[in-house]
Amino acid sequence: MFPMRVTFLGTGTSSGVPVPTCDCAICTSDDPRDRRLRPSVFLEWEDASILIDTSTDLRQQALREKIQRVDAILYTHAHADHVLGLDELRIYNWRQAAPIEAYGSADTLDKLGRTFWYVFDTGPNESTKPALDRRPVETPFELRGKTVIPVPIFHGRMPIYGYRIGRFAYVTDVSRIPESSLPLLDGLEHLVIGALRRRPHPTHMNFEQAVEAARVIGAERTWFTHLSHEVLHSEGEAELPENVRIAYDGLRLEIDEGGSEVR
Ligand SMILES: [Zn+2]
Ligand SMILES: [Zn+2]
Ligand SMILES: [Zn+2]
Repeated sequence: MFPMRVTFLGTGTSSGVPVPTCDCAICTSDDPRDRRLRPSVFLEWEDASILIDTSTDLRQQALREKIQRVDAILYTHAHADHVLGLDELRIYNWRQAAPIEAYGSADTLDKLGRTFWYVFDTGPNESTKPALDRRPVETPFELRGKTVIPVPIFHGRMPIYGYRIGRFAYVTDVSRIPESSLPLLDGLEHLVIGALRRRPHPTHMNFEQAVEAARVIGAERTWFTHLSHEVLHSEGEAELPENVRIAYDGLRLEIDEGGSEVR
């Protein structure tokens, strides 16, 4: 298996942090780890550059991380914070002179088609637009030499996907992981899980629930993402078990069969 690199493009909730108009301690923090763009990660391995979601902030994320190619996108669900950067893919379509593969549930890809009607409109068109090749998936599939496993989870009442590749899994916007999905998350080295804040929320796990899910799943290391402006990075991390950490924008994980490093 080839080594894989994971870069956190954004680790904030739907509003991003800081929140416009807010002058709370987190929104005015000097710690760069408290500045969180909308949630997404970038995965790289030999000949593969893959996005999980196209966040609202994709343009500045692509500039910051110098993303040179996008071969495919794995969509978790079609909420605005996870899809609104889709139009920024145009530049990659031009450079690569080809449509970009977009994987997700049939429901997610259908919703994407309604939000971005112009992208998928087959009528005459005078302006440039992104080109996506939508590929609905329900079961594990091959993507440039690796197996991608869709992991069914619940976001409130809505069924959405997490994804597992090798010993890495990305499970955001989750309020419940069904029993039937737990075997898909067995034996992980790194688990990324959405943990919004300390207080409960109807469609996202809070810290307590995510710590419990991390314990049940038993990854070597768990990373929280999708944080709101209610948790200061330094204070939140101090409350967590040693193997549960809070991700931040720009964090990189290097994963290969011989072990992994955090950069
Ligand atoms: Zn705030
Ligand atoms: Zn969501
Ligand atoms: Zn979200």
